[in-house]
Amino acid sequence: MPAYNFNAGPAVLPRTALEYAQREFLDFQGTGMSVLEISHRSKDFEAVIAEAEALAKELLAIPDGYKVLFLQGGASLQFAMVPMNILGPGESADYVLTGSWSEKAFQEAEKVASVRVAASTKEGGYKRIPDVSEIQLGSNPAYVHITTNNTIYGAQWRALPAFPGIPIVADMSSDMLSRPVNVADYGIIYAGLQKNAGPAGATMVIIREDWLAKSPKTLPTMLRYDVMAKNSSLYNTPPVFSIYMSMLVMRWLKELGGLEAIARRNEAKAKLIYDAIDNSDGFYTGHAEPGSRSLMNITFNLGSEEQEKAFLAKAKDAGFVGLAGHRSVGGVRASTYNACPVEACEALVQFMQDYRCS
Ligand code: PMP
Repeated sequence: MPAYNFNAGPAVLPRTALEYAQREFLDFQGTGMSVLEISHRSKDFEAVIAEAEALAKELLAIPDGYKVLFLQGGASLQFAMVPMNILGPGESADYVLTGSWSEKAFQEAEKVASVRVAASTKEGGYKRIPDVSEIQLGSNPAYVHITTNNTIYGAQWRALPAFPGIPIVADMSSDMLSRPVNVADYGIIYAGLQKNAGPAGATMVIIREDWLAKSPKTLPTMLRYDVMAKNSSLYNTPPVFSIYMSMLVMRWLKELGGLEAIARRNEAKAKLIYDAIDNSDGFYTGHAEPGSRSLMNITFNLGSEEQEKAFLAKAKDAGFVGLAGHRSVGGVRASTYNACPVEACEALVQFMQDYRCS
């Protein structure tokens, strides 16, 4: 029986994708070999990466003029790659800080380029996403960087912003492919796949093609978007299995009805758990402010650290996995990514009610 998996990432994957991979693990597409054993330059693997790219384009309705890449180094490498490639001499970019990951993105960018903070909700513990009116843009930034979902504190841009005339660069690591996005508002979208979109190992980067000309020729080759794009993510050996699994996850998403359908499902799942928090007479308290509540990482507290420890121990005994909050903030966190089944959320709600009344 599958565990009730609420891990924050790597995280639960769709059962059907895992089963499909299992079925053809020893004989990929009649080759008599595993997908792990074939050349990344074979026709068979080229078909995988092409389908993964096509599915990403279809699911996200990516307009012409964008390239989809599968890179390595995690979202963490993108923190540096974005400013290294995009910010030329005399240019700068604005960062909106909504949690530890956006802080890290800013700190990495600061090392290599001119960047400034346009807004921060650090005060009060990153409980909310700023209102667009609070964002103080500099003069003519090349982009505005946002982190669409704050994995650790559990706050999310529920309505994605737009800054007329200024492209957004977004770290969507923890809500990629969980809802529709107007890609035309973005210069770059990047996301480690290991939460909603596949296993660890590959980072999806969606980049405006006219931005590829910005990559300085002096950058080390592996850090250049233009080189990665020119070689369709096959400049060097890519993480073949991660890309293959991601393709299967995206097939599953398509069969389910695409991003509108998964967004509705994600909303319904999160509502179940937020309702359990709100209807607990203060026994559980949600961390994020209601308007900024994440549909992906539901963070809450009990009366004290001790009570949280007891709750987590009992939850573990009852078969729930991954509910401890991030080591930097504690508390409880239920990550309810795309592949987390409704039944797991219902079971958690039942457990929360039973625990409170016991
Ligand atoms: N950004 C966000 C929002 C994240 O949640 C994470 C990982 N939890 C990262 C960046 C870092 O990603 P990676 O481990 O792929 O470098």
